[in-house]
Amino acid sequence: MLLQKLEKRKRGWMPLRVTKLVHETHDTLRIHLEDADEQGRQFDYHAGQYLTFRFDALSEKPVVRSYTLSSSPEQTGEVAFTVKEVADGFVSTHLVRELKVGDVLKARGPIGKFCFDDEIHRENRFMIAAGSGVTPFLSMIRSAIASGFKGRLGLLVAYRTDQDLIGWEELLEWKTSGALDLYCSLSRQSKTGFLEGRITPELVSSICKTWLDNTTFFTCGPEQMMYSAKETLVAAGLDPAQFEMESFGS
Ligand SMILES: Cc1cc2nc3c(=O)[nH]c(=O)nc-3n(C[C@H](O)[C@H](O)[C@H](O)COP(=O)(O)OP(=O)(O)OC[C@H]3O[C@@H](n4cnc5c(N)ncnc54)[C@H](O)[C@@H]3O)c2cc1C
Repeated sequence: MLLQKLEKRKRGWMPLRVTKLVHETHDTLRIHLEDADEQGRQFDYHAGQYLTFRFDALSEKPVVRSYTLSSSPEQTGEVAFTVKEVADGFVSTHLVRELKVGDVLKARGPIGKFCFDDEIHRENRFMIAAGSGVTPFLSMIRSAIASGFKGRLGLLVAYRTDQDLIGWEELLEWKTSGALDLYCSLSRQSKTGFLEGRITPELVSSICKTWLDNTTFFTCGPEQMMYSAKETLVAAGLDPAQFEMESFGS
């Protein structure tokens, strides 16, 4: 089974050189990496997994933070994660404002089991995300499409405003091609073409009601949003085993 194999891929701390920086929004940076020890050879990972980074020089004691890979394994030569600067965030502020091409980061992984697994998950996959919680889904959707996934893919995502649309170009491309049913809400702005407000139980109910049969749900965002989405869907008849969560809290 896929999820049992994943843990075997762990290596020690890897030196990862920054090869490209892409400012996705005013406060979000996509950081492309190559393995500095392996002449740039890409390391193995599965869509949805994350790396744990160790920063030795930012303070007296090493500081550790995790970031999900927003690239997908099928993108050869492209390993990337996407970091959103949080207010007063120690590491995210450093990464978004100060990182340079050529810098070397120290990371361990890949880690995590928040991944699609055809052996245990249902035919269709519906994802619910808020803000930077969309990062694992960028990887998982891209990977599913590249590997010929046959089921339906749906994503409900909430951003603050239209200045905060992480991964938007690709999401729209997948929507336009029919590969993804995309529902996007803005929590602090009213705009034509977007839903309005945070991800509430009412929004989850109204959008997900046609998805309940034969679907596994995945969610990544604030814990309260994830638990209330689970409660709503389970009350509507979802088997709790078909609901997967990833928390960005430490
Ligand atoms: C498995 C995993 C995967 C993750 N993947 C990503 C990813 O792909 N992209 C990404 O941007 N982040 C991701 N994170 C979050 C990331 O690890 C850091 O927690 C985040 O960058 C904040 O770190 P910091 O040092 O800047 O903030 P800190 O200095 O630790 O926190 C500063 C303040 O911000 C608040 N805060 C901390 N984190 C958040 C947050 N995420 N949202 C809102 N407020 C916050 C704290 O409560 C505190 O008040 C992931 C976390 C985990 C556990």
